[in-house]
Amino acid sequence: MNKREKIIIGNWKLNGSKQLMQDTLVELGQAINPHHAANNFTLAICSPSIYVGEMIQLAMQISNKLLIGCKNINTDPHTFTGELSAHTAKAMGCKLCLVGHTERRTALNEGNYSYHIKVKQLLAAGVSPALCIGETLEEKLAGKTYTVLHQQITQALAGITLGDNTPLYIVYEPAYAISSSQALTPVFAQAVHADIRRLLSDILGATQTNKIAIIYGGSVNHDNALNLIAQPDVDGLLIGCANSNLQHFRAICNKV
Ligand code: PEP
Repeated sequence: MNKREKIIIGNWKLNGSKQLMQDTLVELGQAINPHHAANNFTLAICSPSIYVGEMIQLAMQISNKLLIGCKNINTDPHTFTGELSAHTAKAMGCKLCLVGHTERRTALNEGNYSYHIKVKQLLAAGVSPALCIGETLEEKLAGKTYTVLHQQITQALAGITLGDNTPLYIVYEPAYAISSSQALTPVFAQAVHADIRRLLSDILGATQTNKIAIIYGGSVNHDNALNLIAQPDVDGLLIGCANSNLQHFRAICNKV
């Protein structure tokens, strides 16, 4: 049994209304119980940034185990109209921010170097980066999973030092598993997570790596969640579609 933080992150994508947001947070507040509090468990929601301020206010009234985050920042700290920077995310009260979600990697062609800058800026601002990595189906079939992850991790984390107060999360989300009903089997997820942990250890050293939660994402639902998170190197889950069904999302949180 490891001592790392267990975390479930809900990715709200572009879904949501003010009412849904309020209902969800209240429902999730009820899913957080003393068992979670005693077991270093955190629940986080990454919401469309327009809702973030209000969600933070509401979450603070519900539980300090309920964190709110955003889903991207721009690396330009001052001038990029329409975007959010690391320091605005911090000023709003965001505790975490997704970096490099596969929808951005593929559609916007953002590169690992921009993710490196985002990770650095977020850590400096005191907002936890949740760095998403993962291979495409073509890369997997070509036997390139390890090579792709190695490149994504080394380029994004080169020269990064972690402090004690702002955790870094690594989210392994194979592109083909996202919203596809093709979640990885727990055994396969465990094997890749163990590889990722070894890679992180080579880059950051064992002590720092032991503090990093490695999170699985891709078609997690209330049937497969428990077996996935039971794996020794699967420290958390990133959940997209299944969190739009409140009952299912709550059931997943209750099982962890
Ligand atoms: C996601 O988009 O980050 C995600 C994990 O989605 P889903 O759970 O729907 O696969």
